[in-house]
Amino acid sequence: IRLSQILENQPSLPSLAPLEVIEKFRLEKELHQALKQDEFVLFYQPIVCTQNAKIVGFEALIRWQHPRRGWVTPIEFIPLAEETGLIQLIGDWVLRQACQQLEIWQEQFPLDSSLKMSVNLSTLQLSDPQLSLRVQQIVQQTHLNPKSLQLEITETAFLENSPIAIANLQNLKQQGVYLHIDDFGTGYSSLSRLQDWPIDVLKIDNSFVRTGKWNMIQAILMLAQSLNVEVIAEGVETEQDWVQLQQLGCPYLQGYLFSRPVDSQAATLLIAAEQLTCY
Ligand code: C2E
Ligand code: MG
Ligand code: MG
Ligand code: MG
Repeated sequence: IRLSQILENQPSLPSLAPLEVIEKFRLEKELHQALKQDEFVLFYQPIVCTQNAKIVGFEALIRWQHPRRGWVTPIEFIPLAEETGLIQLIGDWVLRQACQQLEIWQEQFPLDSSLKMSVNLSTLQLSDPQLSLRVQQIVQQTHLNPKSLQLEITETAFLENSPIAIANLQNLKQQGVYLHIDDFGTGYSSLSRLQDWPIDVLKIDNSFVRTGKWNMIQAILMLAQSLNVEVIAEGVETEQDWVQLQQLGCPYLQGYLFSRPVDSQAATLLIAAEQLTCY
């Protein structure tokens, strides 16, 4: 009997090859160390007003500066952080760091005190009963107006509809924090339920602009209008995208055309440069 025959008769083989298991195990260990050794960094990407490209806020996007692997993107480690539960600690770190940065900017640029910070929340964070309390504490400790904070939650997280998640959303809303649906249009939301969620902004998923689905974007804009919520289009890469979205009346934009996500120093320069031209 050959090995392959034995394997074929196994009813349930592990879904990962041994090497992948080892690699994953190693990555998990490194992820724990990363928090202790301060290897995570937040980058910031501007969100701009469509009319004049003026910066209205930033989205905080995590990166991992790995001692050997170099820069690691969130799509490579956030799923593992979620699987291992580490996302709670990482998520807290992200919130605190992003709030601290915004506080620095609001002090440094008092004319831009309406500057907002968007922070991504994972589905797992939303189902943590302590979430809204911890957000409240972090906001208070960093002396921020809760109205400066915008939390981005994917459509799929809303769809889970767990009682804890709903309580969190309502509580955050009561604090004055803004709630954004991230990657909107990819998660099959039922329109009737959309109306029940305490949301403020729909962020149109990158893929709509990338594939030029202007008619769909127009439909989302109309939907947003009837729900009385704002819209941000993500993934704006070209002047033509900008013109199209302006013609459709999309109020806010985000994408490489205006700026890639950059470190805090570069983001500070972006705000400073804008103040020079405006005042
Ligand atoms: P997202 O929240 O939808 O973030 C937007 C992603 O699109 C970012 O990728 C951003 O760099 C990228 N992007 C921005 N402008 C353009 C553009 O013009 N064209 C294209 N092709 N892409 C653009 P990034 O930074 O790699 O983040 C990927 C995802 O990882 C995020 O998607 C978010 O779901 C997750 N993520 C990032 N940071 C965090 C975090 O702190 N916590 C959690 N839970 N998730 C995070
Ligand atoms: Mg986001
Ligand atoms: Mg998005
Ligand atoms: Mg996305």
